[in-house]
Amino acid sequence: MSRVYNFSAGPAMMPEEVLKTCAEEMLDYHGSGQSVMEMSHRSKWFDEIIRTAEADFRKLVGVPDNYKVLFLQGGAWTQFSAIPMNLMKNKVADYIITGQWAKKAWQEAKKYGNAKAIASSEDKTFSYIPDVSDLPIDDDADYVYICQNNTIYGTRYPELPDTKGKLLVSDVSSMFLSEPHDVSKYGIMYGGVQKNVGPAGMSIVVIREDLITDDVLEGTPTLLKYKTQADAGSLFNTPPCYTIYVCGLVFKWLLGQGGLEAMKKKNEEKAALLYNYLDQSKMFKGTVEKPYRSLMNVPFVTGNDELDNKFIAETTEAGFVNIKGHRSVGGMRASIYNAMPREGVEKLVQFMEDFEKKNG
Ligand SMILES: *Cc1c(COP(=O)(O)O)cnc(C)c1O
Repeated sequence: MSRVYNFSAGPAMMPEEVLKTCAEEMLDYHGSGQSVMEMSHRSKWFDEIIRTAEADFRKLVGVPDNYKVLFLQGGAWTQFSAIPMNLMKNKVADYIITGQWAKKAWQEAKKYGNAKAIASSEDKTFSYIPDVSDLPIDDDADYVYICQNNTIYGTRYPELPDTKGKLLVSDVSSMFLSEPHDVSKYGIMYGGVQKNVGPAGMSIVVIREDLITDDVLEGTPTLLKYKTQADAGSLFNTPPCYTIYVCGLVFKWLLGQGGLEAMKKKNEEKAALLYNYLDQSKMFKGTVEKPYRSLMNVPFVTGNDELDNKFIAETTEAGFVNIKGHRSVGGMRASIYNAMPREGVEKLVQFMEDFEKKNG
């Protein structure tokens, strides 16, 4: 068996210990004689799996008692619709456009009401985060929406926006559980799990309890209404059972690693290895303005397409896979989520140094 260092933006690397537990428990979960894939979501085993997963998530993140944690089918994109349908009471919402995912969420919200783009960094290919200290927030805005870590462009908010008392809704997909989250600052904090948590197919939505009501937009599908799932403990219909189980194992793994403060420290160290090298390299350049650099997604270029392609081909050959950048930025992108070992980043930097020597 030989495993690669997978720098994909998502689906992405999983902790090896978690995959081993999955393998060990694949045919017979805890004496049930079944795989988790095969068992009823109403069984006593699954009941314990989902309860434990939620309890561990709450402990890990420090979720306040007045917030619900929902495990919902569908990716982050499903929430682009659910959020306006549940929150747009005045039919006004303010969006900050810092990349493709924020833009897509905004475009989706426009179907349901007056969704306004109140700031954007599109003028410089989303390579920075706009000043969010004094935004033209609408008096009747139902919420202010951000994408806190921009997976494609490799930026993150250094500070949360001043929403002038309005609810803050944040997509944290590509930074989920990579550092502590102060849940009390958000009305909703949510993310698809396939970037930094578990297998694809699910989002975790952390939502303040008073926002879960029957007062939703007319025509809201039963399954997109948060109250439906909140009342049923995320078990209204068949949930993504296997994904919930694997996420639960990842929560335990993260607790074992020392929790989110410890992960933040490790992630800062890993990112620094790469950024420090980029800052002194004559060949490779980071594409993001320094104060806004993501700890998770690191885009870089040589400025020469041919050289980029040569680098991508050679890294792939050497077992560093999925390092090709998103087509809208070009070049390369190394996604270094929680499960990427420090050694993977060290070896990549070594490879880049060697490549620069040979081709410089
Ligand atoms: C990947 C991603 C999405 C879309 O996720 P899906 O699960 O594919 O719907 C949304 N937001 C961010 C920040 C992402 O990285």
